[in-house]
Amino acid sequence: MSSRMSRILVNGAGGFIGGHLVKRLKNEGFWVRAVDLKRPEFGESPADEFIVGDLRDQLIARAVVEGIDEVYQLAADMGGAGYIFTGEHDAAVMHNSSTINLNTLEFGLQAGVQKFFYSSSACMYPAYNQVDPTNPNCVENSAYPAAPDSEYGWEKLFSERLYLAYMRNYGVPVRIARFHNIFGPEGTWQGGKEKAPAALCRKVAQAADGGEIEIWGDGLQTRSFLYIDECLEGVRRLMDSQFVGPVNIGSEEMVTINELAEEVMSIAGKKLAIRHTEGPLGVRGRRSDNRLIWEKLRWKPSQPLREGLEKTYAWIENQLRIDGCQSKPVLAEVSPAHQRQANKPRFAVASAHGD
Ligand code: NAD
Repeated sequence: MSSRMSRILVNGAGGFIGGHLVKRLKNEGFWVRAVDLKRPEFGESPADEFIVGDLRDQLIARAVVEGIDEVYQLAADMGGAGYIFTGEHDAAVMHNSSTINLNTLEFGLQAGVQKFFYSSSACMYPAYNQVDPTNPNCVENSAYPAAPDSEYGWEKLFSERLYLAYMRNYGVPVRIARFHNIFGPEGTWQGGKEKAPAALCRKVAQAADGGEIEIWGDGLQTRSFLYIDECLEGVRRLMDSQFVGPVNIGSEEMVTINELAEEVMSIAGKKLAIRHTEGPLGVRGRRSDNRLIWEKLRWKPSQPLREGLEKTYAWIENQLRIDGCQSKPVLAEVSPAHQRQANKPRFAVASAHGD
C-alpha cells in the first residue's frame, strides 16, 4: 500500500481524470506534483507543485520524476469520437502519446520511481468482438488477436505492453487499467474533444423544450459509462493491490446512445426529438466486463448511470449559464481545432503551484 509519505507525480493533471485524481490524492494526504501542457480549466489545482510542461520533451520528462515515488500516467493526446475516429489526428495521437509513455517509463526508472500506474482504454479491444450491440465481448483476455478500431487503441495496446516489458525486464511494478468512458463534472463539454455524455448534456441543456437534438448514427450503438468518483476508487484500489492488470475499470450498465439521450432529457425535464446524422461512430457495442476486477479486488463499480448523469448535467447547465449562452441555437458542431501538438512550443515555464 502507498505510504502517506509517498511523493506522487500525476501526468495529465490539467485534464479531466488527472485533475480529479490530484484532488483525491491530496484529500488522502499525499504530496503531489502535477504536470500537464495546461492547468485545469475549471479551477485551481490543489497539487503541491504544478509544472506546465510537455512530457514529450526529454528535459521536462526527466525533471518531473526527480524525487518521485509513484507515477500516475494519464497524459495522452485524446478526445471523443469526433477526435479519435475521423483519422485526421492519427499520426499526432500515436506520436504524442507513445512519446509520453516512453519518456515517463525510461526517466522514471532512472530516477528510482517505485511504481507506475498506466491509464489504458477499452479502445484497445478488438473491433470484431464489438459488432453485436447487445452482446459485446470486452473480457480482458480477449485482447488478442489484436484489432483495435482506432490508432488511439493501437497506441494504448503498445503502451500496455511497454509498461509490462519494463516490469519484466527491470523489475519495476506497474498497474494497468483499461478505462471505459469515464464522465463527470469538469470534463471537456464543448469544442470537439467532448465525449457522448457531456455532448448530450450540453445539447439537451441548450435546446428549448419541444426542440430537437442531433445524434451521430442511428443511436443504437451501445456503451457503458462510469462516473469519475468510481473510476478513481478503482484506480486507487488497483494501485494499492498486488494485481498488475490490465483490468477493466468501467460500468456494466450498458445503454444505447438513444437511451442515454432520453435519460438526460428526463433529468432536464425536456421532451426533445432526436435527429440522426452521419458522424464518426466507433464500434457498435462496448461494455465493461467486471468479472476480473471483482475476482482480484473484491470491488466493482455499482453506482447507477443516472446518479452520475444528474451531477454532470447540473454542472454543464451551470457552465452554459456562466458562458451566457443557454438556449442559443447550436448552429454546427465545432470541429476540433486541428493542432499538431508537435508544432506547439516544447518548453513551457516550469512553475510551482500558485504562481
Ligand atoms: P484529458 O484529455 O482530459 O487529459 C489528458 C491530459 O493530458 C490533457 O490535459 C492534456 O493537456 C495532457 N497532455 C497531452 N499531451 C501532453 C504532453 N505532451 N505533455 C503533458 N501533458 C499532455 O483526458 P482524460 O479523460 O482525463 O483521460 C486521462 C487518461 O485516461 C488518458 O490517458 C486517456 O487516454 C485515458 N482514458 C480516458 C477515458 C475517458 O473516458 N475519459 C477512457 C479511456 C481511457
